[in-house]
Order: sequence, then C-alpha cells, then structure tokens
Amino acid sequence: MTLSHFQMCIGGQWVDALSGKTFESLNPATAEPWALLPDADDSDVERAVQAAQQAFEGHDWKSLTATARGKLLRRLGDLIAQNKEKLAQLESRDNGKLIRETRGQVNYLPEFFHYTAGLADKIEGGTLPLDKTDMFGYTVLEPLGVVAAIIPWNSPLYLTAIKLAPALAAGNTMVIKPSEHASATLLELARLALEAGIPAGVVNVITGYGASTGAALTRHPLVRKIAFTGGAATARHVVRSSAENFAKLSLELGGKSPNIIFADADIDSAVNGAVAGIYAASGQSCVSGSRLLVQDEIYDQFVERLVARAQRIRIGNPQDDSSEMGPMATAQQLAIVEGLVADALAEGATLRMGGKRPEIEGNGWYYQPTLFECDSNSMKIMQEEVFGPVASVIRFKDEAEALAIANDSLFGLAAGIWTRDLGRAHRLARDVRSGIIWVNTYRAVSAMAPIGGFKNSGYGRESGIDSVLAYTEQKTVWINLSQEPMADPFVMR
Ligand code: NAP
Repeated sequence: MTLSHFQMCIGGQWVDALSGKTFESLNPATAEPWALLPDADDSDVERAVQAAQQAFEGHDWKSLTATARGKLLRRLGDLIAQNKEKLAQLESRDNGKLIRETRGQVNYLPEFFHYTAGLADKIEGGTLPLDKTDMFGYTVLEPLGVVAAIIPWNSPLYLTAIKLAPALAAGNTMVIKPSEHASATLLELARLALEAGIPAGVVNVITGYGASTGAALTRHPLVRKIAFTGGAATARHVVRSSAENFAKLSLELGGKSPNIIFADADIDSAVNGAVAGIYAASGQSCVSGSRLLVQDEIYDQFVERLVARAQRIRIGNPQDDSSEMGPMATAQQLAIVEGLVADALAEGATLRMGGKRPEIEGNGWYYQPTLFECDSNSMKIMQEEVFGPVASVIRFKDEAEALAIANDSLFGLAAGIWTRDLGRAHRLARDVRSGIIWVNTYRAVSAMAPIGGFKNSGYGRESGIDSVLAYTEQKTVWINLSQEPMADPFVMR
C-alpha cells in the first residue's frame, strides 16, 4: 500500500525534518501503516519555536487589531466547516474513531472558532481605584508569546481547537505537537489557518515522538505557556520541563468519573447515558463515565438492561456508518486495557460482560464492551483510568453513600447524576468534587462551557468566556499625575 506522505508546517512552509527522518502512522482498524510523517528533533523544534517567536514579534501579526484577529478566527471556522467531511474522514482513519463521532465533532468545531472570535476584542484591562491621589493606574492584558500545545490522540481537532482559538484571539502564536499516533488532521488545520490568512509562523505544527519532540518543545526557553492534554505520567514530565522555562501551564488530564444512577431516574435514559459515558469512543475519552454507581433498588434491573444494550453494540470498521464502536487507537492502549482487565480479574472483580477482543476480521485493535461488578470502591478497576471500553459498577444504598464513593477518587474531571429529584441533583452538583457535572445527560460539550478538572484531573480551564484570559499576562501601568518633582528616592511611593 502506498503511504500518504505528510510534511510539517513551520513558519508557513511545508518541511521535512532536518534529519530527513520519518516515522509511520498506523491505521487502528487494520494495524497497517498508512502515513509517513517527519520525525522532528531538537533542531526542528528550535526552528518552529523561532518561527513562532518571530511571528509573535512581527508586524503582520502584532499590528492586527483584536477585531482583525477575531475576523481571521471566524474565517478559519468557516474553512473548517467547508472542509468538514475531509477532516472527519482523516481523523477517523488516523485514530480509529467512528466516522459518525468524528463527523459530529467536526460539525461542531467551527463553533469554537466563531465563539472565541467574538471574544478577541473583549479582552479588557481596567482602571485601578488607587489610594494615591497623584497617581493614575490601569491594567492591560497582553498575549504571552509562544504557546506550546501538546495534544493526545483521542480527539486531536477538538482538543487543539479549544487551545488554538483562545490563544490566537489573545494575540499569541503557537507550536502544536500532536501525538505521533494522530497528527494528520492538525497538519490539515495548519493548512486551513494559512488559507484563512493567519500570518505565517502564527500556527506551526511539528510531528514526532513525545519523549523527544514533545520534551524539547516544552522545555524550550522561548515557550511562555504549555497547554497540555494527556495522561498524568506525561503531565509530570511536562511540569518538570516547565521548571526550566517557567512557562505557565494548563493540564487537562484523565479521570475515573462516576456516573451515579438513582432509583428514581428515567432508567431508559440512564442506560443510554451509561453507554454514552463509557462505550462511546470505545471509552477513549477523558470524561468517560467509567465508574457506574447504581442504587440498590434498581441495581439488578439496571445492570441487566445495560448488558443487553451493550451486547447489541455493533463493533466494526470506524469508517463504516453503521458501526457503533471502533478499535482502540493504538496497540499500546489495547495492551493497557488487557492488562487492567487481567488485574481486575485477579483482584476478584466479577466480569459481567466482555473482557476480551471480539472476533473480527483483520488485525485491528478492537476490544469488547466490558463490565465488571465490584463490591469495593478501593479495587484497582474502580480507581485507575482504563481509557478503554471497560466500566465497573458498584451498588450504593443512599445519597450519602453515593457521594462518598463518587468523591473517593484521586481524579475529579466529570460526573453524571441521574435522578428526578431536583434538590438531590443540586446537592450533588454542589458536593461532588469534579470540574464538570452532568445531570440527566452525559458527554455534552459547548464552546461556552468551561472544561477542566479538580484534583489529579489537572488544572486550568478550557472553553468558555474566560478561556482567552488564560492566554494573557496582566500588566500594571502607573502614571504620575503630580507636577511636583519626584522627592526622596529612598522611600516607597
Ligand atoms: P499521553 O501519553 O500523556 O500523551 C499526550 C501527549 O503528550 C502526546 O502528544 C504525547 O506524544 C506527548 N508526550 C509524551 N511524552 C512527552 C514528554 N515527555 N514531553 C512532552 N510531551 C510528551 O496521553 P495519551 O495516551 O495520548 O492520551 C490519553 C490521556 O489523555 C488519558 O489519560 C486521557 O484521560 C487524557 N485526556 C484528557 C482530556 C481532558 O480534556 N482532560 C482529553 C483527552 C484525553 P506521543 O503521543 O507522540 O508520545
């Protein structure tokens, strides 16, 4: 099979790695290589960061008004809309996500650019009510400079959009490092950014491995912010890198999110919500509702119905419209899932469904929808993120116990609450320690809604009205209004 050959986008030019080295990207549905990408080393990182720095300081970008930057973002959103089918197909092939899911994500993608475009000229400083009559003071919110975006493989376009749009709205430039497993759509995004008229060097995409390309980028002295999405172990490397350059950080990490189903819930909806929470995207979603907490009275009925629904899930080629679950994105991820399932069995969790690869033609990295019944929240399968289609379910007797189990986790990214009791919904929304709470729904996203975690799920928020502020630096300006000469130099004014 002929491989598609991609180049990186640095300073508006399409380039190979200086070393000429490349690596292969594999199609998760077949485990066959389909693309060849440049393997960027330190010298490529250097030229990408320098290009971004030059663009940051350069007239073409710096001289644009905030309104003009907003217009460019709007145009980029429009171009994404015009190219949506191509982007959806590319992402599905690259990371094995269902075409119906990538279409859904790409259809919505322009909203992130359109919404944020409108924020560009609303980034305001303020005047200071100083307690010194001879002084006038004000603050200005300025861009930071070069932002490094580190993107995982599960939703590259979406996870880049929520970083790129606010970073550009605020006047920064960016170097994006996609996962080596899913780089293609971000290179296409860079092409659309150029087509939209965003000046060369403002959006750069370099491809390569995390431990080399990613590490060199995040410790580069000119990088002023690292916007990272990925796992906790990698985040620790990134935090250490930021000790070199004191770059600001946002960390969007994983979760072990509780999906809590009370006896008074609409059971049909809750079953669908549980399926959406863990089997959609083959469980490769940071917000997966991987811990199901079900009230005693309905536990048996709920589990039965969930199993019946999950066993009807059509596993198959992600590019086939009728498939409901595709493969794991990488062979490594499949191995992680298999390892954690083996650990759960060894620990005594009851396997209720799945637990192995399905019988399916070819070598794709598929895994069955899997459910474990657990009698303790301290079991490893209740505590560790699997990032695959593996749910664990546990009973609770009342609201207090549900809350205790929900909060008994190192993570705090998302939570689902299924109940018809309004007071209970609000009590739990208040008391569950997670960055996102969904009541009688799951996996809803919006450009207007902040996303981010508590505890080990990271810090910083993306999306929403404050997203642009995370890409700014506050400057304080003092103006001496006095006509008197400056007096005693040894006294603080
Ligand atoms: P990962 O292994 O942590 O990788 C994330 C990114 O970091 C990839 O681009 C990776 O490149 C890069 N990287 C690896 N080592 C690095 C280093 N030393 N320095 C700098 N960058 C480095 O995560 P993943 O397996 O791709 O994604 C799954 C994780 O992401 C899960 O834990 C999931 O929950 C989390 N996630 C969180 C959110 C959220 O919004 N909270 C959303 C999606 C995913 P390579 O891939 O090329 O190694």
